[in-house]
Amino acid sequence: MRKYLIAGNWKMNKTVSEAVSFMKILKGAIANTASVEVLLFPTFTALYAVNNEIKGSDINIGAQDVFWGEKGAFTGEISPAMIKDTGCSYVLIGHSERRQYFGETSEMVNKKTKAVIAAGLKPMVCIGETFQDRENNSTFKIIEKQINESLVGLTAEQACSVVIAYEPVWAIGTGKIASPDQAQEVHVFVRKIYSQMYKDASEKIRILYGGSVNPDNISNLMANPDIDGVLVGGASLDTESFAKLIKHFNN
Ligand code: PEP
Repeated sequence: MRKYLIAGNWKMNKTVSEAVSFMKILKGAIANTASVEVLLFPTFTALYAVNNEIKGSDINIGAQDVFWGEKGAFTGEISPAMIKDTGCSYVLIGHSERRQYFGETSEMVNKKTKAVIAAGLKPMVCIGETFQDRENNSTFKIIEKQINESLVGLTAEQACSVVIAYEPVWAIGTGKIASPDQAQEVHVFVRKIYSQMYKDASEKIRILYGGSVNPDNISNLMANPDIDGVLVGGASLDTESFAKLIKHFNN
C-alpha cells in the first residue's frame, strides 16, 4: 500500500521568521495526518530553524536543491550531508524552474539523485512536458527520456526510495491544472517505464501530480488510483489553504 504524500514547494519565499511562524500555525491546524505524509520544502536558509519548530510533529521537511559533491571548492553549493544535518529527510531535484533558469539537465538530476540516496535522504524527482511538447504529441517521448536519463543506474531498492513528481510545465503557477484523465494517463505511463527499468519498484514508488493544485480542485485529481499525492507551489504558502489540502486526505 502506497501512503499518500502532500508536499509544498515554497520556492524563493519566506524569511526565517515567516517560515517558523507558518510551521507553528500548521502544527496546530492539522490534527490527524495518519493517512498522509506531510512535507514542506522551505528555502535553505530556513531549514535549521524550521526543523527546531516541527520537532515532535508529523511535518517533514526537505531541501529544494542539492549539489552532488561531498565537500570542497564548490562555492555556493550545499552537499547532501549538510542538508541531512539540518533535519531534512527529502530533497527536491530537477524542478522545471531549475531546468529552465539554471540549465539543470537530466544528467545532473541523475548525479544529484544518486548522491542524495547515498546520504540516506529521499529524492523527489520532477519530470514534465512543456506546452509545446504536448501540442506536438511528444509528451510520452519526453517523459520517457527524462525518466531514463534521470534515474539510470539505480538498484531496484534505490529506485523504490524515489518519489516522482509529474509536473506539466504549462500547469505550474498558471492556474491551468491538467485534467484528472491527463494526469492519470501520464502516471500510468510513468509506472510502465519504471517497470521496464526496475520491475516491482513500479508498484511501490509514489507518483505525485504538481501544477496549480488548490483546495477546490484536489478532489477530482485524487480520485485517480495512480496519483499518490500532490506537489503544491502557490497554495502551500498559506497555512489555511495548505491545511485544507491536507484535510482532503483525512476525510
Ligand atoms: C511547483 O512549483 O512545483 C508547483 C506545482 O507550483 P504551483 O502549485 O504554484 O503550480
